[in-house]
Amino acid sequence: MLPVKNVVILGDGAAGTIMANKLRMLTDVKETRISVVGNSTKHYFKPDGVHIPFKLKRYQNSVKPTRFLFNYGVEYIHDEVILIDVPHRTVQLKSGKGLSYDYLIIATGDRFDYNEIPGYIGEAKHFYDLPHTLELGNSLDSFKGGKIVIGPSSIPYQCPPAPYEFTFLLDQYLRGRGIRDKTEIHYIFPLNRVFTMQNVSDFIEKLFEERDIITHTLFNVESVNGLNKNVTSIEGESVSYDLLILVPPHKGQTVITKSELAGPGGYIDVDRHKLNYKDYDDVFAIGDATNLPISKAGATAHFESEYLANRLAHELSGNVYDEDYNGEIACTTITGAGRAMTLYFSYERPPRAIFQSKMDYLLKWTSADTYFSAMLRGIM
Ligand SMILES: Cc1cc2nc3c(=O)[nH]c(=O)nc-3n(C[C@H](O)[C@H](O)[C@H](O)COP(=O)(O)OP(=O)(O)OC[C@H]3O[C@@H](n4cnc5c(N)ncnc54)[C@H](O)[C@@H]3O)c2cc1C
Repeated sequence: MLPVKNVVILGDGAAGTIMANKLRMLTDVKETRISVVGNSTKHYFKPDGVHIPFKLKRYQNSVKPTRFLFNYGVEYIHDEVILIDVPHRTVQLKSGKGLSYDYLIIATGDRFDYNEIPGYIGEAKHFYDLPHTLELGNSLDSFKGGKIVIGPSSIPYQCPPAPYEFTFLLDQYLRGRGIRDKTEIHYIFPLNRVFTMQNVSDFIEKLFEERDIITHTLFNVESVNGLNKNVTSIEGESVSYDLLILVPPHKGQTVITKSELAGPGGYIDVDRHKLNYKDYDDVFAIGDATNLPISKAGATAHFESEYLANRLAHELSGNVYDEDYNGEIACTTITGAGRAMTLYFSYERPPRAIFQSKMDYLLKWTSADTYFSAMLRGIM
């Protein structure tokens, strides 16, 4: 009998969970041990953050206990990774335990670096994690009209469409409360357009105009002044606000930098078609932890896991897998009241932004259920 192979996955979020469950389905428990190390107790479905502050969804349905999301045969280790030693094929955990691996998959996601923006803490609101999303809901409840400034503070950030999705729902919410005519919405964006991809940007910009949403492009946030109530960009523009909703600056995890797998930004460079780190054929990174241009979406984590699980299953059974990951993803984004648009694209094929529908919105609306029952479980 061949010795048991150890696959170690770091990170218990979208990418780590999908990867573990998919690989488990394709491999034999007697031949391959799959261990996941993660430090979360609850798994929050982040896309619901655009609905929760407007009471369009109950947060209780967007959270599940992490431990129970792994399929039979996946070992879950609740701990924190403090060092990854690639040359020696080992990982050190905070508890003092060490793990060795035959294959390592890094899926530790990213983190918010509030200190990048002086004045952010205590002043700006956001909807990028559950506690802040609930807090923002309270701020909106007590909002009576005025000027709302919203947007990402810098690039990269998770789910590039999320700020515009939130803005469309904000517009709808204010109309519903009868205070839209008393409110100015200002959308700020770091590039010279309102979205990363040009054709999607053109589409969104037109919808913004129809809804009197004012845009400020080339706006990379430098600082927030809570006393004067204004936000200033590196480019030198200042915009005043009554309510500031700012996606926080993102960075890779500190353990990645500490382990010398990336520079200060903390994102791991991987081969865009094979997902392996440098020349190592046993170390991979997936999800938000990578430097890939299409990363920072659960949809990417999903498609990458599909590719990598197939590849490892072949290799673990002694076969060669010579397929490439082509950057393919599908992502449904809200474009207005009860409307959404699904974007399909890959490295070579840009998305077509031409069609929004109620059906796409329903797809988005039900996505937490699909996510917890099927996607995370590895069955789609
Ligand atoms: C508001 C919002 C809306 C979004 N909407 C969409 C959408 O509509 N569609 C879409 O595709 N994507 C969307 N996303 C993005 C999506 O949620 C993320 O891209 C996805 O969660 C990335 O998965 P991940 O596993 O790489 O990272 P995460 O899900 O963040 O998981 C990383 C995990 O690693 C753990 N971890 C980190 N460091 C350590 C350590 N040192 N030791 C142990 N464990 C560690 C963390 O606890 C965490 O559980 C949205 C995100 C936000 C914030």
